[in-house]
Amino acid sequence: MSQKVHTPIQHQVQAGNHGSPDLLVIGAGIFGLWAARHALKRGERVLVTEKRSVGAGASGGFLGALMPHMPDRWNAKKQMQYEGLRSLETAIAALEADTGLDCGYRRCGRLMPLVHEKMLDHLAERVAGADENWRDETGRQAFTLEHVAPGELENRFVLPDGNSWLSPDVASFGAAHDTLSARVNPRACLAALAHFVDSHENGRILEGAEVAALHRETCSVTLADGTAISAGRIAVANGWEAYGLIEGMAARLGGQKVTGRGVKGQAVLLELPHGDDLPIVYDSGSYIVPHGNAMGVDGSGRANRIAVGSTSIDAWLPDGAGEGALEAARTGYNAADTGFFDHACTLCPAIAPASVAERWANVRPRNTIPDPKTGKIGTEPVFGQLQDHEQISVAVGGFKISFGLAHLPW
Ligand SMILES: Cc1cc2nc3c(=O)[nH]c(=O)nc-3n(C[C@H](O)[C@H](O)[C@H](O)COP(=O)(O)OP(=O)(O)OC[C@H]3O[C@@H](n4cnc5c(N)ncnc54)[C@H](O)[C@@H]3O)c2cc1C
Repeated sequence: MSQKVHTPIQHQVQAGNHGSPDLLVIGAGIFGLWAARHALKRGERVLVTEKRSVGAGASGGFLGALMPHMPDRWNAKKQMQYEGLRSLETAIAALEADTGLDCGYRRCGRLMPLVHEKMLDHLAERVAGADENWRDETGRQAFTLEHVAPGELENRFVLPDGNSWLSPDVASFGAAHDTLSARVNPRACLAALAHFVDSHENGRILEGAEVAALHRETCSVTLADGTAISAGRIAVANGWEAYGLIEGMAARLGGQKVTGRGVKGQAVLLELPHGDDLPIVYDSGSYIVPHGNAMGVDGSGRANRIAVGSTSIDAWLPDGAGEGALEAARTGYNAADTGFFDHACTLCPAIAPASVAERWANVRPRNTIPDPKTGKIGTEPVFGQLQDHEQISVAVGGFKISFGLAHLPW
C-alpha cells in the first residue's frame, strides 16, 4: 500500500482548497506532464489542472512516431530537435525506473522509399549531413542515414511470414534508412508521467478542472466553477486551446506574438503480429509505426499493434458551436477521409487485410509564429517564459513532433 505523505498541498486539494502551488500547469498533455515532472524533481509543489482527463487531447493517441528533420541544411531548430530525440531515450528510461511503467519506447529507425532517381542525389547530401551533424558529445557519429538498395529491402526488413515490410514496388530506387528515429506509446508515456506526478507527495492532477481565465497581474487562474487558484508560476500547456486562453495577454516570446490554430488529425490502429524489429515507414504524410508489447500482444505474446496516420484538417470547427458540438467535431472520426491509409497500404501491403483495433481523431496545436529571419512558419513548439510576464510560461505547438521535444527542460 502506498505510504504517501500528505503535504499541505495534498490536504488543501482534498479539502477543496487548491492552495498556492509553486507551479500551476494548465493541461495534462505531453507538454504539461513533462513540465510537472521536471518541477517536482526540482523540489517544487505542483498542481496540474486538466479540463477533461489526462490524455484527452492530442497526446492521447497511438501513433508515437519520433522522427528527425533531414540532417542536411542544418540550423538551430534541427539541432534542438536532434537534442530532443537523442536525450529522450534517457529521459524515458529514468521515468520508467521511477514508476515501474513501460512507455513502449524503441529506437526502431525509419525507412523512406525513393521513388525518383533525383532522390538519390538528395540522399547523398543528407547522408553527408548525418555524418556531420548526428554526433554524440565526444564528436563521434551517433546515428546513420544510409541508402538501402531495392534488392536489399526484400531481405533486410521482413515480416514474420517472410514478406517484405516496405514493398519494393513503391521503392524503385530503394529507400533511405536512418537509425535515429524512434517510437513511443503515447498513452503509456502519459500514464507513466501522470502516475509520477499524482503519486508524488508534492504533486497533484485535478481532472475536470477547466481554467476559464488567466490573470497575469496576480499570477492566478479562475476555474470554470469559479474557484480561484494563485501560484508562484504558471505554465500554459493546454494544446491548441492555449492560443485562446492567452489571446488577450499580447503574449510574446523572443519578440514574436504567440499565435496558432488547432489542426485536426486522425489515425488507425491495426492488429498485425510482428517481431517488434521493424522500422517506421514514412512517405508523403503517411506514417506506419510498428509498436511493441506495451501497445498490445496477440495470444502468443507477440507485439501486434501497428499504428497508421495521419490527416491534417484545418477546417474542422463547427459553425456556431456549443460545447457539445465542439467536442464531437474535435474527436469525431471521418470514415471517408482515408487517403493516408490507402497510401500506407501501397507502402506496406501487409497491413491492408489487418483488422482495425481503433480509429482515433483529435486536434493538435500548430504555431503560426513566423521565423524572425526567414518569415517562414515552422513546425516547432514554443517553450519558455513570456516577455513582460515573468511568472508565466508557455509550452505549446510542436506540430507532429511534440513527443520528441516535450521532455526538454525550459
Ligand atoms: C492524429 C495525430 C497524430 C499525431 N502523431 C504524432 C506523432 O506521431 N509524433 C508526435 O510527436 N506527435 C504527434 N502528434 C502531435 C502531438 O500529439 C501533439 O503535438 C501533442 O500531443 C500536443 O501536446 P500538448 O500537451 O501541447 O497538447 P494536448 O495533448 O492537446 O494537451 C492539452 C491538454 O489541455 C487540456 N486543456 C485544454 N484547455 C484547458 C483549459 N482551459 N484548462 C485546463 N485544461 C485544458 C486538454 O483537455 C488537453 O488534455 C499527432 C497528433 C495527432 C492529432
